[in-house]
Order: sequence, then structure tokens, then C-alpha cells
Amino acid sequence: MLNIVLFGPPGAGKGTQSENIIQKYQLTHISTGDLFRKHLSEGTELGKLAQKYMNEGNLVPDDVVIGMVDDKINQTTNSKGFIFDGFPRTVAQAEALDVVLEKKGTPIKGMIALFVEDEELIKRIEHRGKTSGRADDQDIEKIHNRINVYKNETLPVMDYYQKQGKLHEIRGLGTVEEIFERIATAIDTL
Ligand code: AMP
Repeated sequence: MLNIVLFGPPGAGKGTQSENIIQKYQLTHISTGDLFRKHLSEGTELGKLAQKYMNEGNLVPDDVVIGMVDDKINQTTNSKGFIFDGFPRTVAQAEALDVVLEKKGTPIKGMIALFVEDEELIKRIEHRGKTSGRADDQDIEKIHNRINVYKNETLPVMDYYQKQGKLHEIRGLGTVEEIFERIATAIDTL
């Protein structure tokens, strides 16, 4: 199986590029942000729990996220592989993911990490906020908080995969097609 972690700050283009990756490689998409937003719109207990963290741009507690991803992986059959989008966001999540995948005998093949400068990220998120309807895209303080949370809590996840020789860094500036070409070139070496 081709299991990939798509990594990068909020606004780096993970959602957009996930769609291209899924199409080309026929992978199962697991976006924890999308899963939480679905729970929110359906008014589930999990959605209610996640909402207060999401609204402030803070991370939902690890055990909640890990439980949700574990369920999703174990409900999936006949998959060519998973693309993890917005997950793992802490080293504890990365370690837990390894345990889940080890049980299935199918490890992470590589991490694709997108790099985009802060100014560009803020521009993109504010632009997305005009149409996304996402509360966390609308408020500049929340946007700044998400970028800070990324730097403080999520960046160490990159070291985790680098130590395993699995990190592939990709420049996230350019057209969607140009960036996808860089990503596909990296994926084809995995
Ligand atoms: P995203 O759509 O990936 O930007 O996620 C939106 C929000 O959902 C984040 O700001 C967090 O509040 C929450 N979230 C999504 N994925 C995770 C994760 N892996 N760990 C903790 N919180 C998450």
C-alpha cells in the first residue's frame, strides 16, 4: 500500500493537492479537518467536543483525533493506500499512527511537506474565508494562532519522519499544476 502523509501549515494547499493525488494514485483520503467538520455539521458528540478547539484554531486533543483516525482506517477495505491530510499534527499522533499501521503491516512510505511563507499563507486563508464559510478562516487572530500552533506543536512531526528518512520537502509556491508535478515526482520515488 502507498501510505503518504501530506504535511504543511494551514493554507499550504493540502486539500487542493490531496484531490489531485487521490485522482492519480487512487488513494483513500483521510482529512481530520474534513472529518471534524462533518461531525460538526451532523451535530454529533464528537463534533460538539471538537468545535471549541477548532473555533479558536487550537488542536483537538490527541486521543480524540487518534480514535477517529483509527476507526476510519479500520473501516476501510480494499484500499491502495491512504493519504493523511492534516494528520498527524503532533508527535504523539505520529507515534499512534505507526502503531495502527504496524498492526495492518503497512507503514507510512513517505511524508510530502509543503513549504509556503507566512504572508502568502495568511493571504490564501483570508481569500478562502470569503467562500469556505469556515469560522476559523474569518478572523485574523485565529489565523495567526493556527500558524503559531503549527510552528510550536506540529513542526516537530517533520523531524519524526526525517529521522526515518521519509521526508520530501516541496516548494508550495506556483500554480496548482506546477506544485502537483513536484509532488508526483516525489511520490514516484517512494
Ligand atoms: P484543517 O482543516 O486541517 O485546517 O483543520 C481544522 C481544525 O480542525 C484545526 O485547526 C484543529 O482545530 C482541528 N484538527 C484537524 N486535524 C487535527 C489534528 N490532526 N489534530 C488536532 N486537531 C486537528
